[in-house]
Amino acid sequence: MADEAAPIVADTAIVEPGASVGAGSRVWHHAHVRSGASVGSEVTVGEGAFVDAGVVVGDRSKIQNGAQLFAPAVVDTGAFVGPGAILTNDRNPRAVAPDGSPLGSAGWTAVGCRVGRGASLGAASTIVCTEVGEWAMVAAGSVVVEPVVPHALVAGVPARQIGWVCLCGTRQSETCPVCGWSIP
Ligand SMILES: [Zn+2]
Repeated sequence: MADEAAPIVADTAIVEPGASVGAGSRVWHHAHVRSGASVGSEVTVGEGAFVDAGVVVGDRSKIQNGAQLFAPAVVDTGAFVGPGAILTNDRNPRAVAPDGSPLGSAGWTAVGCRVGRGASLGAASTIVCTEVGEWAMVAAGSVVVEPVVPHALVAGVPARQIGWVCLCGTRQSETCPVCGWSIP
C-alpha cells in the first residue's frame, strides 16, 4: 500500500536538486541520487549507493548498500539490487580517444541496463548493458552480458542459466506450492 509519508533522507546522503524521491522512500547514509534521477515510492536506497542522472527506480525496489546504477538504467517495480551490484552503461569503455585526448560525454554512447519487475541481482553482480527479465534471479558475483529471460536463475562469469525461480525467489523444478508459479 502506498505510504504518503515524506521520504527520509539521511543527513549525509546527497539528493541533488532535480532528483525525485517518492513518498515513503528512504535514502541512507552517503547515498547519492543525481539530478534527473527518479526514485519511486517506498524504495530503499542503501548506504553509499549511487543512482545516476536519469536513472529510474520503480516503487518498492531495494537498492542495497554500495550498489552503482549508471544511466540510463531502469529498475522496474519491486526489484532487488544487491549490495555492491553494478549496472554498467558502456560496452567499450575508453578514457581517451585514439589520439590520447580525453573522451567527453559526447564521445561515447551510454547503453543502459534494464531490470524487470520483481527481479533480484545478487551481491556484487555486474550487469553489462543488458536486460534482466521479470522475477529473474542473478547469483552473487555473476557477470551478466546477455539478456536474462523472466524467472531464470543465472550464475557465473559470464552468467548462464542454471534453473528457474518462482515469485517467492526459490528454485523450482515444477510448480511452487506457495505461489503457484510453474516453469514455462
Ligand atoms: Zn513460489
